[in-house]
Amino acid sequence: MIEMEDVYKQYPNGVLAVNGINVQIKQGEFVYVVGPSGAGKSTFIKMMYREEKPTKGTIMINGINLSKLRSSKVPLLRRNIGVVFQDFKLLPKLTVFENVAFALEVIEEHPRNIKRRVLEVLDLVKLKHKARFIPSELSGGEQQRVSIARSIVNYPKIVIADEPTGNLDPDSSWGIMEIFEEINNRGTTVVMATHNREIVNKIRKRVIAIEGGRIVRDENRGDYGYDS
Ligand code: ADP
Repeated sequence: MIEMEDVYKQYPNGVLAVNGINVQIKQGEFVYVVGPSGAGKSTFIKMMYREEKPTKGTIMINGINLSKLRSSKVPLLRRNIGVVFQDFKLLPKLTVFENVAFALEVIEEHPRNIKRRVLEVLDLVKLKHKARFIPSELSGGEQQRVSIARSIVNYPKIVIADEPTGNLDPDSSWGIMEIFEEINNRGTTVVMATHNREIVNKIRKRVIAIEGGRIVRDENRGDYGYDS
């Protein structure tokens, strides 16, 4: 359901960030993407939601060929892919409820459905009791849980996370991982770039290691690898 064939990405400044990637990720898989800084992890996952376009090669997501996808159809693609960032990217003046509801308001969902779905996902991330708070009144871990709630409120088939625990303390990070596991147990594909060795080595999943824009290792129930 995520398929890359001979994918290359060269940025306009000449940097070759992805240098020939072939990969298949099936519906319902949980995949860690690991590798040193600058290896091409972010570029690899940004191409999955068309934040970046490949210079060469084919990317298929749920049967859609991203190279042939018109810009006007990108919002439609994004509705089927939830994205979680290291720095949360919440709207600071909106409440927790409003931040999550926003994704549904833009697609003009019926207000009654919005309320039901927002409360349902806030319940999943255990933040229903803070629905009226604003982001600055929450801890980092709680803010990340809001951003996860926002990413799944459209019931996407895929959730992509770029270092979701990068700014969090270990306790909050484990809490975030429990939520991703729950989302994955419900059938959603999870692709997560991470530097968190403890998590990768403890919660064993498929590991794709990238170096110099290439996949150098791809193992089911792999470990983090790298000594440093
Ligand atoms: P990682 O996520 O593994 O740290 P990135 O995909 O962010 O790796 O970066 C891979 C390479 O591409 C790096 O050399 C980085 O400097 C470069 N790069 C990333 N984004 C851009 C960009 N927008 N323009 C030019 N070069 C970029």
